Order: sequence, then structure tokens, then C-alpha cells
Amino acid sequence: MTQETLALHFGYEKGDFGTMAVPLYQTSAYDFGNAQTAANRFALKELGPIYTRLNNPTTEIFEKRIAAIEGGEAAVAIASGQAATFFAIANLAEAGDNVILAEKVYGGTTTLITHTLKRFGIKAKVFNSDTADDLEALIDEKTKAIFFESLSNPQIAIPNIEKIVAIANQHNVVTICDNTVATPILFRPFDYGVDVIIHSASKYISGQGLSIGGVVVARNNLNEKLIKNVRYPQFNEPDESYHGLVYADIPLPLFTLRIVLSLIRDIGATIAPFNSWLLIQGLETLSVRVKQHSRNTLEVARFLKSHPKVKNVNYPGLEGDVQHEKAKKYFKDGLTSGLLSFEVEGLEFAKSILDNTKIFSVVANIGDTKSIITHPASTTHMQVPADELEKAGISQGLIRLSIGLESPEDLIADLKQAIG
Ligand SMILES: *Cc1c(COP(=O)(O)O)cnc(C)c1O
Repeated sequence: MTQETLALHFGYEKGDFGTMAVPLYQTSAYDFGNAQTAANRFALKELGPIYTRLNNPTTEIFEKRIAAIEGGEAAVAIASGQAATFFAIANLAEAGDNVILAEKVYGGTTTLITHTLKRFGIKAKVFNSDTADDLEALIDEKTKAIFFESLSNPQIAIPNIEKIVAIANQHNVVTICDNTVATPILFRPFDYGVDVIIHSASKYISGQGLSIGGVVVARNNLNEKLIKNVRYPQFNEPDESYHGLVYADIPLPLFTLRIVLSLIRDIGATIAPFNSWLLIQGLETLSVRVKQHSRNTLEVARFLKSHPKVKNVNYPGLEGDVQHEKAKKYFKDGLTSGLLSFEVEGLEFAKSILDNTKIFSVVANIGDTKSIITHPASTTHMQVPADELEKAGISQGLIRLSIGLESPEDLIADLKQAIG
């Protein structure tokens, strides 16, 4: 089935009332009915809801749908994109280990992986994701994950995905791809051999800026990479916190299972059922929205490119962009999302453009139906030190646009008057 059909129907059986909309199970707990069922659920002899911190029937439908649309095996939804990144890594690495991170990623990812995880004893190493030429030399026996974004926020850079995956596989290291900006509609990381996908579902999946959410998706048969892999003893040796359970002995997708059983169980960060329900609504229209966002963005990119006060435009979908060939190679119909960035001369001029737009809102978000304008250096990436900013390609004059579903003519007219 196509992604569009899966997004509307997968994983939901209409119940007694034939409800067309997926029901919202707004509950914290579930009646086991009898003592044996309760014991069986806890012992994993019987799969079923236990407590909403661990699972919820509405959330489960969202998880099944996103896994199907990504072409993966299993997914686990979490409170936010940041939590998704944290859990994906915490599932692989512990104190003394290291993670290799792409230079061009979301600011929150940089602070989480290079700074906060350091306080947990997990070290970050940074590689040039445009080329991945320096990647292999960074891998050692303590390397537990390689993390990159399929379309980076805010530079809109496309990594050398094939090379990253090939090197990771040679060394049996798990790859994690943040597919938030591209969405599975434009790019499917699993088709290129990536192991794990994370999303900030708060962006295009939600689609209308309605809720915060995240998800981790595992590829088909990821178990084969985890079982008997000396890098990942946590999947192969008894888990003391679960009375000696050995994950490798369980015939289920282990990556997501372990996130639920040993991380969400203890750390929480559960997604609210209502947010899962909103994300289900978002998924239903993801395909039409993302394609239209991309078409609108291409028109705005062409306008900006022709403007004398604009130094450069970063949009891989744009003819002549340095990444255009990569975009055509990896992305469906060469469409590359609603995100673009452009550079003008200096901080003050950039800020004046933000202040003068009328349709664009000055907001720290992306992927909304309403257009957004952001100055990364002073907001989303403010906590990132100057040298890291420069390496990440974020200058003081860089402006990021998240193009919504307004008409491109109106957006172009607004930018024209704001830039002057
Ligand atoms: C927003 C974002 C995140 C973080 O997600 P939240 O849902 O805000 O926690 C992670 N990665 C990318 C690429 C993002 O744009």
C-alpha cells in the first residue's frame, strides 16, 4: 500500500460503533480483569496495555502508522523530538561510550548530545556530514551510534547518506537519522539502509503547530544488527532491572521494546494520548501538505535568489543550488520540504526583515501550515558557541523560513516589502 493509504487506515480496526475517527483513549490505566492476566502482561507473556506511561491504544495506532509510512518494523512515540533523540541514544550508549554526530544538525540536538550527554559520561565526536570523509577515522570500539539529519535544520544540508551507512555497517555501528524536516513523504532513510529514524512529530507530522511529540522508528530486522553484536551487550546480557531478562531471547523488535521497558519505564517522558491523537490527524494529510509546502518554497526560493540584497539562498530543490544534484538523487521528485534559509548582510538587517514581515510570524518552530521566519543565531542556536555556529554554517545574517500553505504570491509580496 502507498504511504497515503497507510496514513489513513493502517493499524485501526473499527470497533462496535464503527467510529471513523480513531478513538482517543484518554486513560491512565487498564483493568486487567484478573490476577493472572495482570501477571502475564508484566511478564511479557501476553502483550497488552499496562499503564499509560508504558503504552496506550491511541498512541499505539500512531506508532503503527508512522512505522508503516517509514517502511520500518516498529515505532515508539515519546513526549517530544528531544526525548526521541535522547532515548534512541540512551538505548545504545552509556558512560564511557561515544556517539558520532553530524556537524549540521538542529541546535537542540547539538546541545543535548555534545553537552548534556557529556554530563552522563557519553562523549560526542563531530563529523562533516556533507562528505563523511572524516567519519571512519572517528570510530572506535566505544562508538555506539552515528547521528545525522536527512535534511538539516536550519542549513537544509543533505548528508552523504550512502557513505555514512556503508561505513557504519562495516563497523557494526547503529545509524540514527533525524527525518523531521524531510518526512517519509520526501525521503525514506530505511530505503538507504539506515537503522533507526527519529522525528520531532511537533513539526510536519503535527502539521498545524498543535502539539509536541516525538517518535523513534526501527528498521525491519534491526535485531540482526543488535544480537551478538559486542558493541551492544545491553541487548545480549541479562538486564538486572528486569529480573535477568535477556532481550536477545525475545522474538520482538528489540530496539523499540527496550526503549519502552527500560527507559520510558524509568524516565517517563511519555506522550499524552491526546497528543498522539492529534498526530494521527496530522499524519492523514502529511503527504498533501509536505508536497505543497515544497512547491511553495521553491517559488519563494526562486524569488529570493533573484533579489539583489540576498547574498545566497540555501534550498536544495532550487535549480543551481550546490546540493541540487543530491536532492534529485535522494528526494522524491526533487522536492525538499518547506524549509529554506537565506543570507543577508549582517545581524541588524536580518532582524529588520523579521520585524517588517506581516504574514510571517517570528516563531521558533517549523512545519506549521502558517509561515514562520526565524533568526537562528540569536534564538534556536543561541546556546551554541560561536565556533560551533560557524562550523554549522550559521552566520549572523542567516534567516530561516518555514514556508506554510499560504499562497506563494502573498508570501513573496510580503518578503519583497520587508527586504526593501
Ligand atoms: C524541533 C526539532 C527537534 C526537537 O523536537 P521537539 O519536538 O521540539 O523536542 C529535533 N530535530 C529537529 C530537526 C527539529 O527540527
